[in-house]
Amino acid sequence: MKINKPLLAWFHQHGRHNLPWQQNPTLYRVWISEIMLQQTQVTTVIPYYKNFIQHFPTIATLAAAPVDDVLQLWSGLGYYARARNLHRAAQSIASQHDGLFPTNLADVVALPGIGRSTAGAILSLALNQPHPILDGNVKRVLTRLHAIEGWPGKKSIETQLWVFAAQHTPKKNAKHYTQAIMDLGATICTRKIPHCKLCPLSQLCIAHQQQIQEQLPTPKTRKKRPIRNTTFLMLCNSNHQILMEKRAPTGIWGGLWCFPETALSPSLSKNITKKEIWPGFRHTFTHFHLDITPILATTKNYDNYVAEDEYAWYNIETAINLGLAAPTKKLLIQLQSKLTKNGEFYVTQCTLRKTR
Ligand code: SF4
Repeated sequence: MKINKPLLAWFHQHGRHNLPWQQNPTLYRVWISEIMLQQTQVTTVIPYYKNFIQHFPTIATLAAAPVDDVLQLWSGLGYYARARNLHRAAQSIASQHDGLFPTNLADVVALPGIGRSTAGAILSLALNQPHPILDGNVKRVLTRLHAIEGWPGKKSIETQLWVFAAQHTPKKNAKHYTQAIMDLGATICTRKIPHCKLCPLSQLCIAHQQQIQEQLPTPKTRKKRPIRNTTFLMLCNSNHQILMEKRAPTGIWGGLWCFPETALSPSLSKNITKKEIWPGFRHTFTHFHLDITPILATTKNYDNYVAEDEYAWYNIETAINLGLAAPTKKLLIQLQSKLTKNGEFYVTQCTLRKTR
C-alpha cells in the first residue's frame, strides 16, 4: 500500500505548519515539544511550551536549573515524570555529549524518558532522518488503514504496527511524512468519529472499505479502577501561612509540593484552634481514583513540621507559584478567596467527622 503521495498532498494543503515548535525546529525545541505532546493535546501544550522555552532557551540552561524550577513550569500539565526525565536527560547531554543533543537514534533512545517513537520523531522532524514513529495517533491510523484487530498495546500487535510504520516511512522527505501522519491522526482519523470523507487515504483504507473504522483500534479490556481515599490537611499558622509538603521524587506527584496527606493526629489536634471540612472531590489517575477530603485548620503555635526538610510554611501567593499537582493548585486558589482583609484565613468552626 502506497500512502505517501496522497498523504503529502493533503498535508501541504491541510496540515499544521504554524505550531511554535515548527518555527526554528532545532533538536532541543522539537524534543521539548514531543515530550510535552505525549498524552497531552496541542492546544494545552502551546502556552506551556512557550513559557518553558522562554525560561530554558537551551539545553545548558535546562541542565543547570534546579529540578524544582522545571516542575514549577510543568505544574498543571500532568505526568510529572516527563519533567523530571527532561531535566535528567539535559544533565546527561551536558555531561556525556558535550551539551549537544545526540543525532544518532541509539544515543537518543538511551536518554531518560525517550522511547523509540519519540526518538524517531525528534530526529525526523528536526533533521529529516528517515525513522518510523508510532505514537498514539499513528497507531490509530495504521490500525485502521490495515484493519488490524487486537489492542495496539499488546506486544504482538505493536510489532506488526512497527513493521507497517517502517514500510510507510520514506527515505526522502521524512520530516513532512512524519508531521503529515501525526496530523492526519490528530485531525481526520480521530478516535471517536473518523472523518473518512475528508481523508486522503480513504481509497486505500481497509477499515473504511469494510466499514469497521469505528471499531478500531480494539480497546483494551479495562479493569475497574480501584478507589483510594486521602485527606489533604490545609494547615495555617498564626502568621497566616500555609503548611506545604514536598513529596518524594518518585511516585505520584513526585517532587511536587502538596498539602500533607494526613488526618489530624491527637497531638496535632490539641494545637488546632479552628477546623473546617471542605466537600470531597475525586482526582483520577491512570490506575486508580483518588477521593480527596480537604480539611482547613488553623493552629496558633505549631512549628514541629518545619523541623523536617520536606515541610515548609508558605504565604499563599508564594505557594501558588510552586510546582504543584493539579488538585493542590485548585485548593490553593479556593483558599485565596478565604483570605480576609487582614491576611488571615476565614475558617468556620465545625466538628471533625471521620473522613470517607
Ligand atoms: S479512511 Fe477513515 S479510518 Fe481510514 S485512515 Fe482515513 S480517516 Fe482513518
